[in-house]
Amino acid sequence: MNIFTDIGSWRDARRGVTGSLGFVPTMGNLHAGHLDLVYRARKNNDFVAVSIFVNPAQFNDKADFEKYQRTFDADCALLKDAGADFVFHPDAKEIYADDYTLRVTETVIAEELEGAFRPGHFAGMLTVVLKLLNIIAPTRAYFGEKDYQQLLLVQKMCAALFLPLEIVPCPTLRDASGLALSSRNGRLTEGGRAHAALIYKTLMSDMDDAAAKDVLDHAGFRTEYVTTKWGRRLCAAWLGDVRLIDNVPKDPLSPHLRGEG
Ligand code: AMP
Repeated sequence: MNIFTDIGSWRDARRGVTGSLGFVPTMGNLHAGHLDLVYRARKNNDFVAVSIFVNPAQFNDKADFEKYQRTFDADCALLKDAGADFVFHPDAKEIYADDYTLRVTETVIAEELEGAFRPGHFAGMLTVVLKLLNIIAPTRAYFGEKDYQQLLLVQKMCAALFLPLEIVPCPTLRDASGLALSSRNGRLTEGGRAHAALIYKTLMSDMDDAAAKDVLDHAGFRTEYVTTKWGRRLCAAWLGDVRLIDNVPKDPLSPHLRGEG
């Protein structure tokens, strides 16, 4: 597995990659959900590249950016075992040589739910994803349904800007309690993690969105939204100082619930 920290040396190597290249963009602090994306990329491509970059532009809260766990050495060990060929771990100064002055914005999907509660988040995310796709030049890029609104926006950007690659959506990996795996779960106590499983249970229940929000609020969450749209039921809720998001397919006969995802 080769590690690249500057764009020039990656591009030199990219010219020598013949065959298909699968790409998994991440912010590191990897867990089994990220690795599942890597396995999927491994299965369908000749080579696999993974980026690890904590993107300053997509954090609307500076403290959240600073608290984000950086575990680069452990991440590389996991990626090597998972069969990744290349790790791209760039410096923010090189990625943002424009000093954050050039941004990609979308004006419909990006304005609601996560976009409404995290102003600027999606412009920061789309901007870095476009930069990474242009640098890595993959055949396919893998994104988790865990961040459903992000997935929709990336698909929309690639279509609208005619980017020559395929976006592959991947189902959410959960622990045995139903809690969606997330780098942020590491900031919960063991009891907090057990309690956080209520989000999934509530999203999967027959309750309407307003009742589901009430249940979470009464259970000690500070719930920002429970909303049904895009064929999903989506939620963001704080447990203490940790913000969690999740979503499930609205249609119980969807492929993922049938175990075909
Ligand atoms: P992040 O490092 O949080 O930016 O996530 C990198 C990629 O992993 C994104 O496409 C996420 O949607 C995806 N991802 C994060 N958690 C999960 C999960 N539990 N299951 C599947 N994919 C995930």
